[in-house]
Amino acid sequence: QHNLRAANDSVIMIQGYLNQTQSNLASVAVDYTNWDQAVEDVQTLNLQAFYVNFGSSATAGDLFQLLAVTDGPLPVVWSWSDDGEEAPAPDKVPAEIIAKLRAAVAEVPLGSYAPVVHFDIVEGELYAFAGTLIEPENIGEMPNVSASDLALAVFGYRLGEEALSGASALYLLGGLAISDTVSVGQAAVTLTGLDGTHVSNIVWDPPRPGDELMSQVGLPLGGIIFAFVLISALVTLAAQRSAKELAVQESRASTAARNDSLSGLPNRYAFKELTQTRGRIGDEEAAMLFLDVNGFKHINDSVGHKGGDELIVQMSKRLLKIAKSSTFLARVRGDEFIFLVQGPESRERILSYAEKIRVELLPEFRILGRGFHISMAVGVAVRDGDDFDFEELLRRSDIAMYRAKKLGISEPITYDPSIESETQQRRIVEDALHEAIETGDEFSIAYQPIIEAASGGMVKAEALARWKSAKIGNISPEIFISVAEETGNIIALGQVLLRKICDDLKKWPDLKVCINISPAQLNDGGYVRELIETLGEQNITADRIEIEVTEGLVVSNVDLAAYKLDILNEAGFSTSLDDFGTGFSSIGYLKALPFNTLKIDKSFIASLFDDEGGSDMVRAMILMGHSLGQTVVCEGVETPEQRALLIELGADLLQGYHFSRPVSFDDLRAWEPQVQLSA
Ligand code: C2E
Ligand code: CA
Ligand code: CA
Repeated sequence: QHNLRAANDSVIMIQGYLNQTQSNLASVAVDYTNWDQAVEDVQTLNLQAFYVNFGSSATAGDLFQLLAVTDGPLPVVWSWSDDGEEAPAPDKVPAEIIAKLRAAVAEVPLGSYAPVVHFDIVEGELYAFAGTLIEPENIGEMPNVSASDLALAVFGYRLGEEALSGASALYLLGGLAISDTVSVGQAAVTLTGLDGTHVSNIVWDPPRPGDELMSQVGLPLGGIIFAFVLISALVTLAAQRSAKELAVQESRASTAARNDSLSGLPNRYAFKELTQTRGRIGDEEAAMLFLDVNGFKHINDSVGHKGGDELIVQMSKRLLKIAKSSTFLARVRGDEFIFLVQGPESRERILSYAEKIRVELLPEFRILGRGFHISMAVGVAVRDGDDFDFEELLRRSDIAMYRAKKLGISEPITYDPSIESETQQRRIVEDALHEAIETGDEFSIAYQPIIEAASGGMVKAEALARWKSAKIGNISPEIFISVAEETGNIIALGQVLLRKICDDLKKWPDLKVCINISPAQLNDGGYVRELIETLGEQNITADRIEIEVTEGLVVSNVDLAAYKLDILNEAGFSTSLDDFGTGFSSIGYLKALPFNTLKIDKSFIASLFDDEGGSDMVRAMILMGHSLGQTVVCEGVETPEQRALLIELGADLLQGYHFSRPVSFDDLRAWEPQVQLSA
């Protein structure tokens, strides 16, 4: 059973490898053909220019080794291979392969930029082929261009000995080879052509972890032989069955589990599986590169989640383009990618990847009509003789990446033990937070009363998140909220917190609360709708909730903020501008933004009695808020003197330790104003 499972796992791995090979080639094909320059070169029959821009890639043989262009304006077939010859020949790609792809491409609508891919054999060697038309970039706007005007391009990527031995090394599988037949005991994936015909098989010797087990159990010799024959037969059967069915059913399920649905790349689970099946690295050299996009959160904030997703998709394509087939490339989390190489000169190879990545990710990304340049932090770890596994390699490259991020440099940082302790801390928070959000049990809400200045009574309370982690203790919201924002977990965390607040609101029908939301929440297309839905389900009306938004967000995108505020106001929520005075809003902005409440930042209250006109400043802010029809709250009130002066300056509401620290829901209910009002 052990052997069978291992054999099945290896089938899944190789199937994944083949899928990745095909999708790599498809994405290269799209880049080369959805390109106005290529269209022009072909339409004008400018062979010289076409070779320089296009054909020379085939002779160089890095991304593909066979290329044919034909049809449309071309009277003949131009084709090249990686034999180095610059002049095209008509027959470097067999005519029947071109004919098959021509027929298949004819079924693909213009403008879908979706190449047809399949495997085929040329002169005894296995190739992945991709076929697509060379189409203008804006074909959608060119109604009089038809498919017959356009040239067909066929790309071939050779899965030769080199590629297969790379894959053998990568997946630690002995002797991957192409074979028409599958022998007893071998595992295999059957390769089918476009029309479902049998092309060939990839065969290998599956790992046999069960053999060792059996020798430990110590069966008598006859039993071993019997079991061996039985297992061999089963493995062959299973492998053949898998080969047939896998492409249809299993690959769907397993690809879904092991591949990230957004980018199509292997995911963290696939990596984990790799770690388990390959165990320790052994003596072999290995190196990992860990890449994390800087400011991904800001991109998400400005173009929303859809835009963030789109960036990931585009990045993945660019990364796939440079990843050699012997390299394991995966998206491990959010905006984090890894490259893993093994074998001699791993360090050099991974560092050359770092450079290629830098170049590849340099050009602008177009996301929802806007241009973005991204920068990133890169960490590298090399296995240089110490005995440790892939997980450790991942951890080390991750820590090195964190170091690079902290230093704000784009050059890769290579792991060394001295960087361990500094970065570990935040990483630990990240991991614990991730888990805590799943259950939600470790979070609670503290409430801080907001007091009416004139009467001293509580008007509402601000809900503040608290986290007591079983693993790492109490963590300040300033830390975990920012970690949640950076890691894209704030939406999920916000939902956990909202549910808790709703529970409390139901227990106390007169209570009104202020909740803090992060930019990512406000900008998320679904946030407001979900908020309304959640409240609706719980029978809580919107007028019991005030949404606090920080000034920083508002200043960074006034139009968007105004739009979102309108939606919130229309739905019946109150809105409050938090930390006012820290984010440089101009009065012009404020007039355009329909806030009900203005919250003067606590730093101004702390400097109320400073000589440099602290109180004049606060007075001016209060006046300004009033002139805009807003209720003004002063937060961070710690002393009776501050309270007295703020009342004099005209503040409407007050909040701070002087009245109460943030307390539990039960304590809030029991809270009585302690302050004697001055008569
Ligand atoms: P904030 O919204 O400005 O919240 C007020 C902070 O000031 C709270 O810190 C509160 O405990 C503290 N504070 C209250 N009175 C006084 C005072 O008299 N003196 C001083 N020095 N501080 C006072 P806390 O609870 O540590 O929260 C820190 C920040 O974390 C909050 O600042 C808010 O930006 C963020 N935060 C807290 N809960 C949430 C949440 O549920 N969602 C989001 N997105 N952010 C949250
Ligand atoms: Ca607040
Ligand atoms: Ca505040």
